[in-house]
Amino acid sequence: MKRQADLRDRAALDAVFAAHEIDSVIHFAAKKAVGESTRIPLEYYDINVTGTVNLLLAMTRHGARRVVFSSSCSIYGETPKVPLDEDDPAAPANPYARTKYLCEQLLADACARYPELSVIALRYFNPIGAHPSGEIGEDPTGVPNNVLPYMAQVAVGRLTELPVFGDDYPTPDGTGVRDYIHVSDVADGHRVALDHLDDEQGLRVFNLGTGTGASVLELLAEFTKAVGTPIPYRIQARRAGDVPTLIADPGRVERAWGWRTTRDLTAMCADAWRFQRLHPNGYSSGPPTV
Ligand code: UDP
Repeated sequence: MKRQADLRDRAALDAVFAAHEIDSVIHFAAKKAVGESTRIPLEYYDINVTGTVNLLLAMTRHGARRVVFSSSCSIYGETPKVPLDEDDPAAPANPYARTKYLCEQLLADACARYPELSVIALRYFNPIGAHPSGEIGEDPTGVPNNVLPYMAQVAVGRLTELPVFGDDYPTPDGTGVRDYIHVSDVADGHRVALDHLDDEQGLRVFNLGTGTGASVLELLAEFTKAVGTPIPYRIQARRAGDVPTLIADPGRVERAWGWRTTRDLTAMCADAWRFQRLHPNGYSSGPPTV
């Protein structure tokens, strides 16, 4: 049985659901880079939106009814409000964010039509870090789109300097502020969400963030501490589609499930650096061992 299928391939998806009794799905598969989405928007709609439609079609055909969906804080867009809660209005500012917003809407419409569905959309803020073992981490293909893997590749000498996209935002040091969350907290959040899928039917939306923001320069300073040597950077123009500040109000998840994140920026940077140091060329030297 094939263990990999493209969400755009409806026949392959049907075969997966026909071959297994699947009661819950964690739907991660999507493209996720803001800058890239402004360059190849149609691919983003195809993979992220069509992929989700196809998944729901297959699920409803085969009686699978529970989904945890990877949504995104980018849905909130350029809003002056800090922190953001789930009832704040959506104002997606780029194609990536619009695909995630559309997916939430199509999930809501699917839930209205199929009341037996239980769907939890987790609006991730900015996941960074790696498994603390140093054996599972981020290994983007090509030049990294996201800030932390870029920094990490500069630190190991694969790239020469970090471009800092804009220092004229209305933030304390002028660089973009984000709510970085450790990938292990993201993983824990999914496990807890799975446990709570049956609490209610229909679509529920939760922020997955820490409630604390860091600017690009603050993140760079923390990562530099983990590395122990300076990381060259250069201020550049703003990147298309970026917004100044995105920070979560993590209260809803805490009130609903008694759960909150436990790892801070220091741990995120230390763990990310451990992975990059142990795997300077990512997984190209072999698959992860855990
Ligand atoms: N950023 C940067 N240099 C990079 C990549 C990103 O300065 O090489 C900034 C970006 O402008 C934003 C923050 O880092 O303020 C986080 O960007 P990232 O792409 O990691 O995540 P996003 O918030 O776009 O999902």
